[in-house]
Amino acid sequence: MSAFIDGHDVVMFDLDGVLYLGPDAVEGAVEGVNELVRRGVRPTYVTNNAARAVEQVAEHLAGLGYPAAPEDVISSAQAAAALVAEEYPDGATVLVVGTQNLVDLVTEAGLTPVATADDAPDLVVQGYDPNMTWPRLEEAGFAIQNGARWIATNTDATRPTNRGIVPGLGTMVHAVRVTVDVEPTVVGKPHKPLMAAAIKRTGARRPVFVGDRIDTDIMGAHAVGIDSFFVFTGAHGVRDVCLAPENGRPTAIGWNVASLFEPQRVATLDAAGAVCGGVRVRGVAGEPVLEGDLSTRDAQLNAAWALAQLVWAGSVAWSDAVGARLDLLP
Ligand SMILES: [Mg+2]
Repeated sequence: MSAFIDGHDVVMFDLDGVLYLGPDAVEGAVEGVNELVRRGVRPTYVTNNAARAVEQVAEHLAGLGYPAAPEDVISSAQAAAALVAEEYPDGATVLVVGTQNLVDLVTEAGLTPVATADDAPDLVVQGYDPNMTWPRLEEAGFAIQNGARWIATNTDATRPTNRGIVPGLGTMVHAVRVTVDVEPTVVGKPHKPLMAAAIKRTGARRPVFVGDRIDTDIMGAHAVGIDSFFVFTGAHGVRDVCLAPENGRPTAIGWNVASLFEPQRVATLDAAGAVCGGVRVRGVAGEPVLEGDLSTRDAQLNAAWALAQLVWAGSVAWSDAVGARLDLLP
């Protein structure tokens, strides 16, 4: 049997929930990414977080055992700098509302950072900064009110940390948004610029994006028309997959990164429901009924995939009770 990964030349990875969770590598992921390299498939690490330099991200990944050099990491800060460099002449002025990393990248791209809205910047570029202050957000609002173009590296509402979740850049963007009448251009997933930059940098012909979130990772893959592979080691679970909108449905699912080497899971629909592996999901008066041995995680993944096809087709409704039977999956 061929593996799902066969025929793909580049794997674009989300980081949190796919490659690491807090301080630890996700089970199977280090071996999986190293196996990709052995097979001649190029890994690229794609991060919405604009606060850290790619050198730091690469060092973190390499420390966990991943094959990662700075050029293998692409960040929303890099993609934001590339976007402004492409659209604005050298010397255009920018109010950077983010970390020094973002200031450095914007400067390297040929733009001139300014300190306040009084400098009448051409652009406001906003990125995550754990030390953000209200006065800086107010300054961003003033500059945009005065006509500056607004670019945000991403709009993630939250950010996971080892002590719990914290407000993400999305909340800071919202704080500015309530003071202005325009929407920002957003660079990171699920929007196109970061994904397109990753494809361009790697020269990928048939990439696949591996992620743990429907709303950023899988929708980001759809935005640029590439394959996506959903893993269950992070934020989202069976319910999220089944209830995904059309532009958030993955090409394939698997437990973790190592699942890329398994054959692609295929569900067959018929009049009675859907079959995947040894599991059948029957639609009875619009309700899903699971049949077959569900004692292994692999069988539950088959059930989840069959169930997702039926919910997506509108032939059954999502059921929390049925979801609860898939107790080996989040
Ligand atoms: Mg993630």
